[in-house]
Amino acid sequence: MTIHVVGNVCVDTSFRLERLPQPGETLNALATSEGPGGKGANQAAAASRTGADVMLWAPVGKDASSVWIEGVIAAEIPALRLTWLELPCDRSVIMVDRSGENVIVTAAACADAFDPLAMTALRETWTAGDMLLMQGNLRAGVTNACLRAAREAGLFTVLNPSPLAAEPLDLAAVSLIVVNRPEAEALTGKADPEQAARALVVAGAGSAIVTLGAEGALLLDAASALRLPAREVAAIDASGAGDCFAGTLAGLLAQGASLSAAATIATQAAGIAVGRPGTLASFPTRAEISALTK
Ligand code: ADP
Repeated sequence: MTIHVVGNVCVDTSFRLERLPQPGETLNALATSEGPGGKGANQAAAASRTGADVMLWAPVGKDASSVWIEGVIAAEIPALRLTWLELPCDRSVIMVDRSGENVIVTAAACADAFDPLAMTALRETWTAGDMLLMQGNLRAGVTNACLRAAREAGLFTVLNPSPLAAEPLDLAAVSLIVVNRPEAEALTGKADPEQAARALVVAGAGSAIVTLGAEGALLLDAASALRLPAREVAAIDASGAGDCFAGTLAGLLAQGASLSAAATIATQAAGIAVGRPGTLASFPTRAEISALTK
Protein backbone atom coordinates (compact mmCIF):
# COMPACT_ATOMS: atom_id res chain seq x y z
CA MET A 1 0.00 0.00 0.00
CA THR A 2 1.32 3.43 -0.95
CA ILE A 3 0.68 6.57 1.12
CA HIS A 4 0.08 9.53 -1.18
CA VAL A 5 0.86 12.66 0.80
CA VAL A 6 -0.61 15.65 -1.04
CA GLY A 7 0.51 18.87 0.61
CA ASN A 8 3.07 21.61 0.91
CA VAL A 9 6.84 21.98 1.09
CA CYS A 10 8.46 24.95 2.83
CA VAL A 11 11.81 26.40 3.69
CA ASP A 12 11.71 26.68 7.49
CA THR A 13 13.81 29.29 9.27
CA SER A 14 13.80 28.69 13.03
CA PHE A 15 14.82 31.11 15.76
CA ARG A 16 15.38 29.95 19.33
CA LEU A 17 14.56 32.80 21.70
CA GLU A 18 14.63 33.43 25.43
CA ARG A 19 10.95 34.39 25.08
CA LEU A 20 8.54 35.20 22.25
CA PRO A 21 8.51 38.89 21.15
CA GLN A 22 5.74 41.38 21.89
CA PRO A 23 4.26 43.46 19.03
CA GLY A 24 6.74 46.18 18.02
CA GLU A 25 9.67 44.49 19.77
CA THR A 26 13.00 43.34 18.27
CA LEU A 27 14.86 40.48 19.98
CA ASN A 28 18.21 38.81 19.38
CA ALA A 29 17.88 35.05 18.85
CA LEU A 30 19.84 32.50 20.88
CA ALA A 31 20.31 30.40 17.73
CA THR A 32 18.95 30.10 14.21
CA SER A 33 18.76 27.34 11.62
CA GLU A 34 17.29 26.69 8.19
CA GLY A 35 15.84 23.38 7.04
CA PRO A 36 13.15 21.67 5.01
CA GLY A 37 9.59 21.88 6.31
CA GLY A 38 5.95 22.31 5.42
CA LYS A 39 3.35 20.04 6.94
CA GLY A 40 3.19 17.93 3.78
CA ALA A 41 6.93 17.28 3.70
CA ASN A 42 7.13 16.77 7.47
CA GLN A 43 4.33 14.21 7.55
CA ALA A 44 5.64 12.42 4.46
CA ALA A 45 9.09 12.18 6.07
CA ALA A 46 7.67 10.87 9.35
CA ALA A 47 5.64 8.26 7.45
CA SER A 48 8.67 7.28 5.39
CA ARG A 49 10.76 6.81 8.54
CA THR A 50 8.33 4.10 9.69
CA GLY A 51 9.35 2.10 6.59
CA ALA A 52 6.11 2.82 4.67
CA ASP A 53 6.02 3.33 0.92
CA VAL A 54 5.40 7.09 0.58
CA MET A 55 4.90 9.41 -2.41
CA LEU A 56 4.89 13.16 -1.77
CA TRP A 57 2.93 15.30 -4.24
CA ALA A 58 3.74 18.94 -3.57
CA PRO A 59 4.33 22.31 -5.25
CA VAL A 60 7.67 24.08 -5.03
CA GLY A 61 8.73 27.54 -6.19
CA LYS A 62 11.68 28.52 -8.31
CA ASP A 63 14.24 30.60 -6.40
CA ALA A 64 17.65 30.23 -4.79
CA SER A 65 16.27 27.63 -2.33
CA SER A 66 14.52 25.34 -4.84
CA VAL A 67 17.26 22.90 -5.73
CA TRP A 68 18.48 22.67 -2.15
CA ILE A 69 14.98 21.93 -0.83
CA GLU A 70 14.41 19.29 -3.49
CA GLY A 71 17.68 17.56 -2.53
CA VAL A 72 17.04 17.50 1.21
CA ILE A 73 13.46 16.28 0.86
CA ALA A 74 14.38 13.65 -1.72
CA ALA A 75 16.86 12.24 0.81
CA GLU A 76 13.86 11.57 3.13
CA ILE A 77 11.24 10.65 0.53
CA PRO A 78 12.67 9.04 -2.61
CA ALA A 79 9.28 9.04 -4.41
CA LEU A 80 9.04 12.81 -4.66
CA ARG A 81 6.57 14.22 -7.20
CA LEU A 82 7.16 17.98 -7.22
CA THR A 83 5.26 20.50 -9.33
CA TRP A 84 7.54 23.45 -10.16
CA LEU A 85 5.76 26.82 -10.09
CA GLU A 86 6.97 30.25 -11.28
CA LEU A 87 6.78 31.61 -7.72
CA PRO A 88 9.16 32.02 -4.77
CA CYS A 89 9.37 28.94 -2.51
CA ASP A 90 6.91 28.88 0.38
CA ARG A 91 8.62 29.80 3.65
CA SER A 92 7.92 29.60 7.36
CA VAL A 93 9.44 31.59 10.18
CA ILE A 94 9.31 29.60 13.41
CA MET A 95 10.06 31.18 16.78
CA VAL A 96 10.55 28.91 19.79
CA ASP A 97 11.02 30.10 23.37
CA ARG A 98 12.86 28.45 26.29
CA SER A 99 9.74 26.52 27.33
CA GLY A 100 9.31 25.01 23.85
CA GLU A 101 6.31 27.21 23.00
CA ASN A 102 6.28 28.34 19.36
CA VAL A 103 4.70 30.78 16.93
CA ILE A 104 4.82 30.18 13.18
CA VAL A 105 4.13 32.39 10.17
CA THR A 106 3.96 30.85 6.69
CA ALA A 107 3.99 32.37 3.20
CA ALA A 108 1.97 29.99 1.06
CA ALA A 109 1.77 31.22 -2.54
CA CYS A 110 2.82 27.82 -3.95
CA ALA A 111 0.38 25.91 -1.74
CA ASP A 112 -2.40 28.33 -2.75
CA ALA A 113 -1.67 27.85 -6.46
CA PHE A 114 -1.43 24.05 -6.32
CA ASP A 115 -4.16 21.92 -7.88
CA PRO A 116 -3.12 18.29 -7.52
CA LEU A 117 -6.21 16.92 -9.29
CA ALA A 118 -5.12 18.81 -12.43
CA MET A 119 -2.26 16.30 -12.60
CA THR A 120 -3.49 13.15 -14.25
CA ALA A 121 -0.38 11.45 -12.84
CA LEU A 122 -1.77 11.57 -9.29
CA ARG A 123 -5.01 9.77 -10.11
CA GLU A 124 -3.25 7.35 -12.44
CA THR A 125 -0.85 6.41 -9.66
CA TRP A 126 -3.21 5.89 -6.72
CA THR A 127 -5.08 2.60 -6.55
CA ALA A 128 -7.84 1.20 -4.35
CA GLY A 129 -6.43 0.27 -0.95
CA ASP A 130 -3.82 3.06 -0.99
CA MET A 131 -3.90 5.89 1.53
CA LEU A 132 -4.23 9.65 0.99
CA LEU A 133 -2.75 11.86 3.72
CA MET A 134 -3.54 15.59 3.59
CA GLN A 135 -3.12 18.67 5.76
CA GLY A 136 -4.75 22.12 5.80
CA ASN A 137 -2.17 24.01 3.76
CA LEU A 138 -3.78 23.71 0.33
CA ARG A 139 -6.96 25.61 -0.52
CA ALA A 140 -9.95 24.05 1.25
CA GLY A 141 -11.79 23.48 -2.05
CA VAL A 142 -8.77 21.59 -3.41
CA THR A 143 -8.44 19.54 -0.23
CA ASN A 144 -12.13 18.59 -0.26
CA ALA A 145 -12.02 17.68 -3.97
CA CYS A 146 -8.94 15.54 -3.48
CA LEU A 147 -10.41 13.73 -0.46
CA ARG A 148 -13.62 12.99 -2.38
CA ALA A 149 -11.78 11.76 -5.47
CA ALA A 150 -9.59 9.52 -3.33
CA ARG A 151 -12.56 8.05 -1.47
CA GLU A 152 -14.34 7.37 -4.77
CA ALA A 153 -11.20 5.57 -5.96
CA GLY A 154 -11.24 3.38 -2.82
CA LEU A 155 -8.42 5.02 -0.86
CA PHE A 156 -8.33 5.35 2.94
CA THR A 157 -8.17 9.11 3.60
CA VAL A 158 -6.40 10.71 6.57
CA LEU A 159 -6.77 14.43 7.19
CA ASN A 160 -4.86 16.61 9.64
CA PRO A 161 -6.73 19.85 8.88
CA SER A 162 -4.11 22.21 10.31
CA PRO A 163 -3.97 25.12 9.62
CA LEU A 164 -7.76 25.41 9.71
CA ALA A 165 -9.46 27.03 6.72
CA ALA A 166 -12.46 29.33 6.96
CA GLU A 167 -14.40 27.07 4.58
CA PRO A 168 -15.98 23.84 5.87
CA LEU A 169 -14.23 20.51 5.39
CA ASP A 170 -16.00 17.56 3.83
CA LEU A 171 -15.68 15.19 6.77
CA ALA A 172 -17.81 12.58 5.02
CA ALA A 173 -14.81 12.07 2.70
CA VAL A 174 -12.40 11.55 5.64
CA SER A 175 -11.72 8.04 6.95
CA LEU A 176 -9.63 9.33 9.88
CA ILE A 177 -9.21 12.88 11.14
CA VAL A 178 -6.24 13.83 13.35
CA VAL A 179 -6.52 17.23 14.96
CA ASN A 180 -5.04 19.02 17.96
CA ARG A 181 -7.20 20.15 20.88
CA PRO A 182 -7.57 23.87 20.02
CA GLU A 183 -8.40 23.06 16.41
CA ALA A 184 -10.85 20.32 17.45
CA GLU A 185 -12.61 22.89 19.62
CA ALA A 186 -12.62 25.45 16.78
CA LEU A 187 -14.13 22.85 14.42
CA THR A 188 -16.80 21.55 16.78
CA GLY A 189 -17.35 24.15 19.51
CA LYS A 190 -16.61 21.42 22.10
CA ALA A 191 -13.79 22.04 24.57
CA ASP A 192 -13.88 18.47 25.88
CA PRO A 193 -11.73 16.33 23.54
CA GLU A 194 -13.99 13.27 23.71
CA GLN A 195 -17.06 15.34 22.89
CA ALA A 196 -15.13 17.07 20.09
CA ALA A 197 -14.04 13.70 18.66
CA ARG A 198 -17.66 12.46 18.80
CA ALA A 199 -18.85 15.59 16.99
CA LEU A 200 -16.26 14.99 14.23
CA VAL A 201 -17.47 11.40 13.81
CA VAL A 202 -21.12 12.52 13.82
CA ALA A 203 -20.18 15.06 11.12
CA GLY A 204 -18.96 12.19 8.92
CA ALA A 205 -15.35 11.25 9.79
CA GLY A 206 -14.79 7.47 10.11
CA SER A 207 -12.70 7.87 13.28
CA ALA A 208 -11.12 10.79 15.08
CA ILE A 209 -7.94 11.43 17.06
CA VAL A 210 -7.57 14.58 19.14
CA THR A 211 -3.94 15.23 20.14
CA LEU A 212 -3.56 16.72 23.59
CA GLY A 213 0.04 17.98 23.78
CA ALA A 214 1.62 16.96 27.10
CA GLU A 215 -1.52 14.91 27.87
CA GLY A 216 -1.05 12.55 24.91
CA ALA A 217 -4.00 11.86 22.63
CA LEU A 218 -7.57 10.63 22.52
CA LEU A 219 -8.71 8.12 19.92
CA LEU A 220 -12.38 7.66 19.10
CA ASP A 221 -13.15 4.61 17.03
CA ALA A 222 -16.61 3.48 15.91
CA ALA A 223 -17.72 2.79 19.46
CA SER A 224 -15.06 3.39 22.07
CA ALA A 225 -12.79 6.20 23.23
CA LEU A 226 -9.21 5.43 24.20
CA ARG A 227 -6.83 7.75 26.08
CA LEU A 228 -3.19 7.43 25.01
CA PRO A 229 -0.75 8.74 27.64
CA ALA A 230 2.07 11.06 26.54
CA ARG A 231 5.74 10.18 26.76
CA GLU A 232 7.47 11.59 29.85
CA VAL A 233 9.79 14.14 28.30
CA ALA A 234 11.33 17.53 29.06
CA ALA A 235 9.81 19.62 26.26
CA ILE A 236 12.43 21.51 24.24
CA ASP A 237 10.60 22.34 21.01
CA ALA A 238 7.03 21.31 20.20
CA SER A 239 7.10 22.55 16.58
CA GLY A 240 6.25 19.71 14.24
CA ALA A 241 4.93 17.42 17.02
CA GLY A 242 1.54 17.14 15.32
CA ASP A 243 3.23 16.36 11.99
CA CYS A 244 5.38 13.67 13.57
CA PHE A 245 2.22 12.20 15.11
CA ALA A 246 0.17 12.22 11.88
CA GLY A 247 2.98 10.91 9.65
CA THR A 248 4.01 8.13 12.03
CA LEU A 249 0.38 7.12 12.50
CA ALA A 250 -0.25 6.95 8.75
CA GLY A 251 2.99 5.05 8.12
CA LEU A 252 2.18 2.37 10.68
CA LEU A 253 -1.47 2.06 9.59
CA ALA A 254 -0.34 1.60 5.99
CA GLN A 255 1.82 -1.29 7.14
CA GLY A 256 -1.09 -3.07 8.81
CA ALA A 257 -1.00 -1.83 12.41
CA SER A 258 -4.34 -1.44 14.18
CA LEU A 259 -5.54 2.13 14.76
CA SER A 260 -4.95 1.88 18.51
CA ALA A 261 -1.45 0.38 18.10
CA ALA A 262 -0.46 2.96 15.48
CA ALA A 263 -1.82 5.83 17.60
CA THR A 264 -0.01 4.57 20.71
CA ILE A 265 3.33 4.53 18.89
CA ALA A 266 2.63 7.87 17.18
CA THR A 267 2.05 9.42 20.63
CA GLN A 268 5.45 8.13 21.77
CA ALA A 269 7.19 9.18 18.54
CA ALA A 270 5.82 12.73 18.82
CA GLY A 271 7.02 12.78 22.44
CA ILE A 272 10.56 11.98 21.25
CA ALA A 273 10.33 14.88 18.75
CA VAL A 274 9.23 17.32 21.48
CA GLY A 275 12.33 16.51 23.51
CA ARG A 276 14.69 17.67 20.76
CA PRO A 277 15.16 20.97 18.86
CA GLY A 278 13.97 21.44 15.28
CA THR A 279 11.00 20.23 13.28
CA LEU A 280 11.90 17.43 10.88
CA ALA A 281 15.36 17.25 12.48
CA SER A 282 13.72 16.26 15.79
CA PHE A 283 11.61 13.37 14.45
CA PRO A 284 12.63 9.87 15.55
CA THR A 285 14.87 7.97 13.15
CA ARG A 286 13.81 4.73 11.55
CA ALA A 287 15.80 2.81 14.20
CA GLU A 288 14.05 4.69 17.00
CA ILE A 289 10.63 3.97 15.45
CA SER A 290 11.40 0.28 15.18
CA ALA A 291 12.52 0.27 18.82
CA LEU A 292 9.10 1.73 19.76
CA THR A 293 7.24 -0.93 17.78
CA LYS A 294 9.01 -3.84 19.58
P1 ADP B 1 0.30 20.16 17.54
O1 ADP B 1 1.77 19.96 17.39
O2 ADP B 1 -0.46 19.95 16.27
O3 ADP B 1 -0.09 21.43 18.25
P2 ADP B 1 -0.04 18.63 20.03
O4 ADP B 1 0.50 19.80 20.79
O5 ADP B 1 -1.31 18.04 20.51
O6 ADP B 1 -0.23 18.96 18.47
O7 ADP B 1 1.10 17.51 20.02
C1 ADP B 1 1.02 16.36 19.21
C2 ADP B 1 1.57 15.18 19.97
O8 ADP B 1 2.92 15.45 20.39
C3 ADP B 1 0.83 14.84 21.26
O9 ADP B 1 -0.27 13.98 20.98
C4 ADP B 1 1.92 14.12 22.06
O10 ADP B 1 2.05 12.79 21.61
C5 ADP B 1 3.17 14.88 21.66
N1 ADP B 1 3.49 15.95 22.61
C6 ADP B 1 3.26 17.29 22.45
N2 ADP B 1 3.69 17.99 23.52
C7 ADP B 1 4.20 17.07 24.39
C8 ADP B 1 4.82 17.15 25.70
N3 ADP B 1 4.99 18.32 26.33
N4 ADP B 1 5.23 15.99 26.27
C9 ADP B 1 5.06 14.80 25.65
N5 ADP B 1 4.50 14.66 24.43
C10 ADP B 1 4.07 15.77 23.81
